[in-house]
Amino acid sequence: MEIPPALHMNKGDGENSYAKNSQVQRMIISKGKTMLEEAVEQMLSCSSMIPEVMEIADLGCSSGPNTLTVISEIINVIHATCRNRGRPSPELRISLNDLPTNDFNYIFASQLPSFYKELEVKGSCFVSGIAGSFYGRLFPRKCLHFVHSSSSLHWLSQVPASLESNEVVNKGKLYISKSSPECVLEAYSVQFQKDFSTFLKSRSEELVHGGRMFLSFMGRRCSDPTTEESCYQWELLAQALMTMAREGIIEKEKIDSLNVPYYAPSIKELKLEIEKEGSFVINEVEALEIDWDGGSNHNEEFIQRGERVANTIRAVVESMLESHFGEHIMDELFERYAQLVGDYLSNNSTKYINFLLSLVRNHI
Ligand code: SAH
Repeated sequence: MEIPPALHMNKGDGENSYAKNSQVQRMIISKGKTMLEEAVEQMLSCSSMIPEVMEIADLGCSSGPNTLTVISEIINVIHATCRNRGRPSPELRISLNDLPTNDFNYIFASQLPSFYKELEVKGSCFVSGIAGSFYGRLFPRKCLHFVHSSSSLHWLSQVPASLESNEVVNKGKLYISKSSPECVLEAYSVQFQKDFSTFLKSRSEELVHGGRMFLSFMGRRCSDPTTEESCYQWELLAQALMTMAREGIIEKEKIDSLNVPYYAPSIKELKLEIEKEGSFVINEVEALEIDWDGGSNHNEEFIQRGERVANTIRAVVESMLESHFGEHIMDELFERYAQLVGDYLSNNSTKYINFLLSLVRNHI
């Protein structure tokens, strides 16, 4: 089975777009900046010769200000390192990857021209788009030097197949929940293992030996996948939908039949898959705590914080929910969600956990 075609971030730069509502993901990028820079520097210092051409890929690039921010950070480190070593900078081939439904036009028409204009070394960097799933090969063998991916690998390649059968096993929920039966937890974990090892295997074939990956994605600190830090944003979204079902606005069966292709793994699950797959060594791993609303202003009323969280989630999941429930309930749904999130935040300080993971392609 494939990724539901409806999974794409909200397009363009309108009010509900990902471009305008991705401050939380931006914060994750900025908190990972030092570790990203170190990974690039280490890659350059480990290779005895800086190649004439370096290939860099951003997987799950989406469209919005975050996309080229990360690329600029990587380029700046490469230029600075080469300057310090008195070497000419390599030419850079940059591949921006996402699913075919991503708004690539927005990047290429609205953002790339100014990116090229601001380049320190003009004419030395060539950006292209690669549409396809990162759960499979995207590039020729041994051509990539550096892979980056932020806020993307918590998306699975599909909803676990056993949850798609006719028998409803995860009633009234969209993801793992305290009330989900054990088989739901198991199905998600197995799907993650399969997907993450496919991801590692595909990249191991594409990266040169000594090549590096810097990945960030949602996870959890404890082994229990029903812990609030790993799933409560989905719990509240399911609650918002259930209030609408109780009022007859949508059918409850529609909620029962929807599960999201998402998983927040534990550090143990991650390490196990990396070890089992065997092509990468962990250079560094860190767990960040991220406020649900990006933490920009804690003096705000809880309802405003709830609205910001709802806008962030809307930009990410609206396409999926819209194709399942219809466009007409979206405004109402996210108003209810904002209210529930605001109430929840007034009594709880749950945060997202985001892993930063720096990996090296080993020489075996
Ligand atoms: N990296 C950006 C965007 C993160 S949003 C940032 O940090 O802001 C997550 C992106 O991952 C979405 O654009 C989504 O379409 C993409 N994505 C999810 N599954 C994918 C897959 N299997 N292959 C490629 N891209 C995927």
